[in-house]
Amino acid sequence: MIIDTHAHLDFPDYKADLESVLSRAKEADIGCIINVGTSLASSKKSVTLANRFPPVYASIGIHPHDASKVSDQDWQALESLVNEPKVIAVGETGLDYYRNRSPHDDQQRIFHKHLILAKRHNLPVIIHCRDASDDCLKILDEHKNGLLKGVVHCFSGTAEVVKKYLELGLYVSFAGPITFSNANSLREVAKSVPVERLLLETDCPFLSPQQKRGERNEPAYLSFIIPVLASIYGLSVSDIQRITTFNAHILFGIGETEYEGKIAYAIRNSLYVNLTNRCSNMCAFCMRETYPIVKGHHLGLKKEPTTEEVINAIGDPGSYNEIVFCGYGEPTERLDVLIAVAQFLKSKGKRIRLDTNGHGDLINGRSIIQELKGLIDTICISLNAETAEKYEEICKPVFGKRAYPALIQFIKDAKQTIPNVQVSIVDVPGVNVEKCEGIARELGVDFRVRNYNVLG
Ligand code: SF4
Repeated sequence: MIIDTHAHLDFPDYKADLESVLSRAKEADIGCIINVGTSLASSKKSVTLANRFPPVYASIGIHPHDASKVSDQDWQALESLVNEPKVIAVGETGLDYYRNRSPHDDQQRIFHKHLILAKRHNLPVIIHCRDASDDCLKILDEHKNGLLKGVVHCFSGTAEVVKKYLELGLYVSFAGPITFSNANSLREVAKSVPVERLLLETDCPFLSPQQKRGERNEPAYLSFIIPVLASIYGLSVSDIQRITTFNAHILFGIGETEYEGKIAYAIRNSLYVNLTNRCSNMCAFCMRETYPIVKGHHLGLKKEPTTEEVINAIGDPGSYNEIVFCGYGEPTERLDVLIAVAQFLKSKGKRIRLDTNGHGDLINGRSIIQELKGLIDTICISLNAETAEKYEEICKPVFGKRAYPALIQFIKDAKQTIPNVQVSIVDVPGVNVEKCEGIARELGVDFRVRNYNVLG
């Protein structure tokens, strides 16, 4: 299911064929559409549409263009809509100094009112900002607290500006312009938005994607935007659909998402296997306990799966390039299941990777590397620090001082036994990347720096 988080289906453009537009959206797997009000009348129509069509939800707001025309009665009428059951956001609101259709003072005053309304009702805010990012950020900064949440829609600014919106905890969405042939710089900016903060939108009837330029836009045309985002992020189309749907669900509370931990889950063309949530580390950067989500997959297991359950969850592994034992937990905590599943996968001729913290010997009380020989093609071991002291500080291993020397020995053993060995660190402050790279070089294995918070 896909979610279009910004549409204007109440506009006259859809008067003649709205039902056909919605039917094409359904065929394109658009399961929810947020219809965004731009005036009091448009907000009322959004609520009417939402009540009439199950996939449609309403956001209520007054566009900055009309800020100077908002009377007290208008505002009271808008506020009264907020309790309608399918109203799930406030906006679009913000600042537009490009068209300057209302004086800046009026725009800012009405923007403040929207933010207060949204926070009072614990709703996300849908923000429009054009040529006004300094003032927009200043106002948002005044309202920042645990209750400010929302999305900057149809972002078209710089990487520096988007960073500030992200620091405020906001989501970002890109509409059709991201597909334009001359939009290389916008696509570069999009790379700096973590996919966990990305939302999809069409802003229809405006901003049709490249393939439909000059035509009326509609929700089904997300199908032109998603492949471009997939290419920007180096992910698959289904990854972008799943992740953005999850993000929209978290922000707006609409759509469906899974809350049950997955045993096997796909990212790009790899299948990941989640054997356990147990781990002999408690890394400072690990979200295992608090937010076990990776690329829109929920990995919090209710119970550890048996070998049979893992094989059933994998299904036909034929189409995947690689099977990865990973998940939110240390796979060698379940060495017997890992080996049995790896044997099954090898019988199918699959390439297998193991992502591990390198504590397998300590966990199992014996050297385990020979048991992995011939099964694991690639092993990625988290080094995470240049010294035992730093490792203890960052990873808080249950094995205490024994952990780091055992990890180094495991890397040496892996180098002798497994075809491809890579060590990695996470770029948290205080880790000496050069020294870690030097250790990898000395051990004769590959080295990779992983971005903090980029998982999967
Ligand atoms: S080793 Fe991996 S799973 Fe274990 S605590 Fe660290 S980041 Fe989390």
